[in-house]
Amino acid sequence: MQHIDLIIMFNLKYNTMENKACSCGADNKIVIACSGAADVGLISDQVSRKLSLSNQRKMSCLALFATCSDEMINDFKNKEILVIDGCNIDCGKKIMEQRGISDYSYLRITDHGFTKGKTPANAKNIQAVLEKSLAL
Ligand code: SF4
Repeated sequence: MQHIDLIIMFNLKYNTMENKACSCGADNKIVIACSGAADVGLISDQVSRKLSLSNQRKMSCLALFATCSDEMINDFKNKEILVIDGCNIDCGKKIMEQRGISDYSYLRITDHGFTKGKTPANAKNIQAVLEKSLAL
């Protein structure tokens, strides 16, 4: 089976379980993925969904952090946040900085031996990044 089929199957499972809606800020421990178009962005997204599905952290939308009110940002500042970026463009990190959030854990996938454009979002790579995220 192609890795993209595995991802589609995972997403179908994810979307038929409890999290049909956005869960932004729904838990004290949250994870935000860059969810970029690159392979490493897709891995960030899949790892975040796995963390959310397993109730390790609830996934929040990076776009919300870029667009929400200052009041909502102040609420987010009270949470344990993990940001996962795919590469050193650091989209998630930059949005955190722009919104004045400095207290968060951070994982940049390309810092861990993965190369943007050469890292298929297959089960092995997703699992490897997931394990790194669980240590944060
Ligand atoms: S951090 Fe890299 S992979 Fe993620 S959205 Fe930005 S450019 Fe894309």
